[in-house]
Amino acid sequence: MKILLIAGHGGTPYDSGAVGNGYTEAVETRRMANAVAPLLRAYGFEAELYDQSEDAYKVVTQGGSLPLSGVSYVLEFHLNAAANDAAGNGVTTGSEIWVHTNEQGVTVEQAVLRRIAALGFKNRGVKRSSSLAVLKHVFKRGISHALIETCFIDDRDDMMLYSAKFDAIARAIADGVAEGFGKAVTDTVKEDDEMVEQKRIHIDGKDYNCEVIEKEGYNYVKLASLTQAGYNVTYDAETKNPGIAAPQTRAEVPDGDSAVQDAIDKVQAVCGLEEQTIAYLRRYQYGDDLLRKLADAMN
Ligand SMILES: [Zn+2]
Repeated sequence: MKILLIAGHGGTPYDSGAVGNGYTEAVETRRMANAVAPLLRAYGFEAELYDQSEDAYKVVTQGGSLPLSGVSYVLEFHLNAAANDAAGNGVTTGSEIWVHTNEQGVTVEQAVLRRIAALGFKNRGVKRSSSLAVLKHVFKRGISHALIETCFIDDRDDMMLYSAKFDAIARAIADGVAEGFGKAVTDTVKEDDEMVEQKRIHIDGKDYNCEVIEKEGYNYVKLASLTQAGYNVTYDAETKNPGIAAPQTRAEVPDGDSAVQDAIDKVQAVCGLEEQTIAYLRRYQYGDDLLRKLADAMN
């Protein structure tokens, strides 16, 4: 069975496609097509790469044709845009696949999306269109076409995950296609390749978006998610102990200078605060400033 892989955009004059987060769509679609092709071949498919110096969209809209002889399935790669989340809000905007309005089955596309979603991307589902140029051109010739918008190039969360999981995404696409066409798929979700999910995690009275692996009823939260939520994750090389400090607190409290010590003495004397309470105040990120302000106000 022959599958044609088309990388979106490019050509002459050059169409970069969308850009965002330091990525260019036309470059990434080629990278992904090149990564998926050998994986499909390993499943016994005849995977052919469409001429990557061309832009298939330009070709078909200018009356040209695609090398579809003997092809049974076309995969067209794109990256989505318009999420407008350059800063990253902790959740991905996600993946979707477009098929023709009159496409019969979408088992292949659903299998691909399910596998991509297992890597942490939101599953936006299989969508239908009869106006996408390349898709329309291919479908008209009796061949099933799937246009995959892997994720959003202008969403920082999407592209962080994309960058970290590029190889796994290529594998998810190839595995999904293989599964959809009835091949036996060797399960790639191994012990060391757990499913990472985006979850709202309740910590210390607040909800945070975290990357989580759930195993046997426990949520294992990625430390980087806690850092993003404002927690201070530290490691003491001497005691070899990790430490986590809540937002706006500091894990290590420096020795106070004499001005801070004067303020501490004053506040302690006037309010009768205990050592413990002072230590607690000084753990707050701006605790020293606070103590000095309190002492000033007491003058
Ligand atoms: Zn595109």
